Amino acid sequence: MPKHKKYATSDTSKEKQIYDLKQLLEISKSLTSVIDYANLIEAILYTCMGQMKTLGVAIFTKKNFDANCFQLNRNYYGFELSNEREYAVPETHPLIRLFTQNTSCFTVNSLKKQVETDSVMETLYSLNPSLIVPLKAKNHITGLLILGEQITSEPYSAYEKEHIINIASLAAIAINNAALLEMTTTDMMTHLKLKHYFYTVLVEKLELSRDILSPLSVLMLDIDFFKRFNDTYGHACGDVVLQMVAQIIQQNTRTQDMAARYGGEEFTLMLCDTDIVLAEKIAERIRKSIENLDILYDGQHLNLTISIGAAQYNPETNESAKELVERADKALYTSKQTGRNKVTIAQ
Ligand code: GH3
Ligand code: MG
Ligand code: MG
Repeated sequence: MPKHKKYATSDTSKEKQIYDLKQLLEISKSLTSVIDYANLIEAILYTCMGQMKTLGVAIFTKKNFDANCFQLNRNYYGFELSNEREYAVPETHPLIRLFTQNTSCFTVNSLKKQVETDSVMETLYSLNPSLIVPLKAKNHITGLLILGEQITSEPYSAYEKEHIINIASLAAIAINNAALLEMTTTDMMTHLKLKHYFYTVLVEKLELSRDILSPLSVLMLDIDFFKRFNDTYGHACGDVVLQMVAQIIQQNTRTQDMAARYGGEEFTLMLCDTDIVLAEKIAERIRKSIENLDILYDGQHLNLTISIGAAQYNPETNESAKELVERADKALYTSKQTGRNKVTIAQ
């Protein structure tokens, strides 16, 4: 039997404790139901602000699974950042070691006694945090939670600290799960989504598109003469170029869209809330960016082109995700047949 820690002080009523336990249950349900990373971070921030009566919350997490430092997430509330500072904590930093060894949360004063003040710590302190809480799941540090100025001037009680540690451990599990999903649905080389995940989301989005009568379009993209490119400059060079092309596609992808690596040198782009007129513009922008790409490899200037097919979802014919992608693919084939480096709209 695990020993129950006694953390409720005599001034914390039974009612309050029951209320907080119910809150934890609700938080657990809501956090584990959010699988999209950005939405999850937002949900955690809101939860912490509500529960801890603070005006500021920020989270440091790893940008991707192979990153070696925790970086301040783009979404945060109530902190003034300086352009001069880099808000990052390396995973080898003594602070992370301290977090691994202790299940606790820290004030600036308590940290100053335990971790030598260096530029990383100075940057953390510059945020003027009221509390620094490790995000820890299964003894593994997932990130850092920073609480800002409190609404009341009272310091946090031991009970409140225990409450935030519990919330942080729920948040850490949810972050781990979301990161795992991210990892298993992402192509390592291009950082775009994998084909099967693209289809899973496309099926959902088509239903939504039908329900709310909002247009949706799909682009199918294929690099021109890529075999020849590999044969001429080598496979390693081909890999670098694939990553550059993927990056251009990603740069043209809004938050509601999804880009995927469909296969070797083929990509798909799901454009939500987009009719074929806008889809053609986006496709044309991508085509031009790739045509204008000046690739410097081994002292040589190289370039390449891409062919694109575009199709808008037609809710009236009740077409499936697969049929929609096939229409875009047929249009792509027409682009290939009629000279490449062009965009064709599906019938
Ligand atoms: P087309 O204009 O008709 O599309 O011609 P293509 O040469 O691009 O088409 P094809 O399908 O004949 O060849 C695709 C090439 O893409 C062959 C393969 O070597 C290359 N390729 C696929 N995946 C990768 C990869 O991960 N890295 C590299 N470097 N090349 C890849
Ligand atoms: Mg090709
Ligand atoms: Mg191909």
